[in-house]
Amino acid sequence: MLIDGASAIVTGAASGLGAATARRLHDAGAHVVLVDLPSAAGAKAAYALGPRARFVPADVTDEDQIRAAVVLASSLGPLRVAVNCAGIATPGKVLGRNGPLPLEDFDRVVRINLTGTFNVLRLAAEAMAATDPWTDPATGTAERGVVVNTASVAAFEGQIGQPAYAASKGAVASLTLPAARELAHHLIRVVAIAPGLFKTPMLAGLPAEVTGALAATVPHPSRLGRPEEFAALVAHIVENQMLNGETIRLDGAIRMAP
Ligand code: NAD
Repeated sequence: MLIDGASAIVTGAASGLGAATARRLHDAGAHVVLVDLPSAAGAKAAYALGPRARFVPADVTDEDQIRAAVVLASSLGPLRVAVNCAGIATPGKVLGRNGPLPLEDFDRVVRINLTGTFNVLRLAAEAMAATDPWTDPATGTAERGVVVNTASVAAFEGQIGQPAYAASKGAVASLTLPAARELAHHLIRVVAIAPGLFKTPMLAGLPAEVTGALAATVPHPSRLGRPEEFAALVAHIVENQMLNGETIRLDGAIRMAP
């Protein structure tokens, strides 16, 4: 396996989809650097995984902090996987009760969800490009690494109430294909996942009746996704060399109400 004995970086790893992904990659034999904002939860998540896991408190929008995380990961083994899970979802309408959505609110969401993703992508790609390629014994095809971005179905559904979030996630999807086509030259793949509704702290702020109603809108399975189901798709992307440049919906066929 590409990841066995190698290293991986997962952002947003203190919680939700990132925490499950870190666990999955660690179980597959990787050294995992968990990146998240400073918190006890991040340190705890790494400690719970075991000695091949480290927590690096860092902001994905900070160049120096992410470079330090990449350097640490590269010292543990060749960096083969970077997973962008850090993100925020701040509600707010274009024209809300208090007037137009403040530009600083819009900028903050774009800065973390899009610029933060790009920051990790570019610095991880730089480190991956410096590694010796790994050859898949099954296919005979060499590659250096895989970057997985997290978009959202919100990018495509035109749901009212999260314009900044939808725009930032649409841009993450748009970033993925050109990055994949360019980085193919370095034997690096880039793939995005667009999750539907997953049971994580991001949805925890919603009242139970709202999450229940949302779950009922998922055609099948009629429930929220489990973080482990997201992590399983990350593991599959890492394994499957034909997956490249794509944004994969993982959503139980949900389409948001108009
Ligand atoms: P979550 O809130 O549980 O986890 C997000 C993590 O990102 C948190 O631990 C947070 O501290 C971290 N983070 C936020 N800003 C950061 C920054 N600047 N630097 C470093 N870390 C930062 O949410 P989740 O549901 O696990 O979401 C993971 C990703 O999946 C997000 O990008 C989210 O937009 C996306 N997503 C989630 C859902 C869902 O239903 N849960 C659906 C679609 C997309």
